Amino acid sequence: MPKRVRMVAEVIGERCTGCKLCVQVCPTVALSMRDRREDEPGPGRRIAELDGDACYNAQTCFEICPENAIAMHELAEPFDVELDRTGIDEAAVEALCLRAGHPASRTICLCTDTTAGELAAAILAGARGPEEVSLKTGARTGCVELCLQPILDLLAAAGHADVPKNPPNGFQWYGHSATLFEQVRPDGTFADELVEAYPSYPLTRELVDLVRLVSKE
Ligand code: SF4
Ligand code: SF4
Repeated sequence: MPKRVRMVAEVIGERCTGCKLCVQVCPTVALSMRDRREDEPGPGRRIAELDGDACYNAQTCFEICPENAIAMHELAEPFDVELDRTGIDEAAVEALCLRAGHPASRTICLCTDTTAGELAAAILAGARGPEEVSLKTGARTGCVELCLQPILDLLAAAGHADVPKNPPNGFQWYGHSATLFEQVRPDGTFADELVEAYPSYPLTRELVDLVRLVSKE
């Protein structure tokens, strides 16, 4: 399902101190830093610059900017982001999803309603990192969190486990980390010792709730 982009960011140059935080959190790397020109008044020697075509309205820049130097504007003409799957080998999509442990029909990005199959298709179409997957599909431009691990799973299953962070010092993602799903055994249960080790944590109930939340199959 396409992501409809209704708003884009704007850098308010007079307020930008050049702290670079916005660049480090944008999931589609729509922001970069450049030198401030002499005709641009403002507090910093460097200034953030937006690539409007790559801004998919995640608003992480807007949320993190300590100087309120990012504004969000409604677009006169919203646009949709959706991968054109013409020419993509759908059998290869299914196979990649299965290798990654995420059935193709499972909704991975809940914010944009993007399935594992759409993410796998983007990887087969050349996406080599989470940012490129986002640019091709629009996924991970809402909460920017929940879908990251499955995207990394799919990239790893496609042979791109060592994808470098972009930007290298960005902190919009940290690499692969342990999740509850990885502790689930093939029969859909947890090991007894795990359940007993955390008696105050309702592991099994959490799992049932998670499966309900993310599964459509
Ligand atoms: S977070 Fe705000 S102040 Fe910092 S570089 Fe970005 S726009 Fe400028
Ligand atoms: S963080 Fe979101 S709103 Fe800000 S520039 Fe990047 S995509 Fe656009």
